[in-house]
This record gives sequence, structure tokens and C-alpha cells, in this order.
Amino acid sequence: MFSGNGASTLKKILLVALILIGTMTTALAAALFNTPYIGNANTMRFHYADCRSVDEMNPHNQVGINSREEALSAGYVPCKRCKP
Ligand SMILES: [Zn+2]
Repeated sequence: MFSGNGASTLKKILLVALILIGTMTTALAAALFNTPYIGNANTMRFHYADCRSVDEMNPHNQVGINSREEALSAGYVPCKRCKP
């Protein structure tokens, strides 16, 4: 009888693929400013997408944020420049 290990390995691969796609989509959304707010994963500050600090930010640290509540609950602090 088959143990079913093949199917569970495939499930793990699919799960990893989905996580990778999710991460890439978040980065892309931030890069294209499709979210009203952009967070800096390094400084843990968040900004309006059109803040000048976002332009100066390393794109690797940019995180797309959809709402103030989402930013605050994720531990981000509002930027002092654009006061989101
Ligand atoms: Zn700002």
C-alpha cells in the first residue's frame, strides 16, 4: 500500500509556493503604490504613499498597508513628516 507521503510532499510544495507568491504580491503592491499607506519594515514607521520619505526608502523595506488600523495593529508608528 502507498503511505501517502507523495501527496503530503506536494501539499507542502504548494503551500511554500503560495507563501512566496503572497510575499511577492505585497512587495509589488507597495512598489506600485496601490495601497494608501506604505510601511517601512526597517524603522517600523508608516507613511501616506505619496510621502517623500517613501521615495527615500529602500524598496526592500516597503510594505503595502491598506488602513491605519492595519498599520497600528502590525506595530507601525505614524510618520512625523506626513502624519498619516
Ligand atoms: Zn511620511
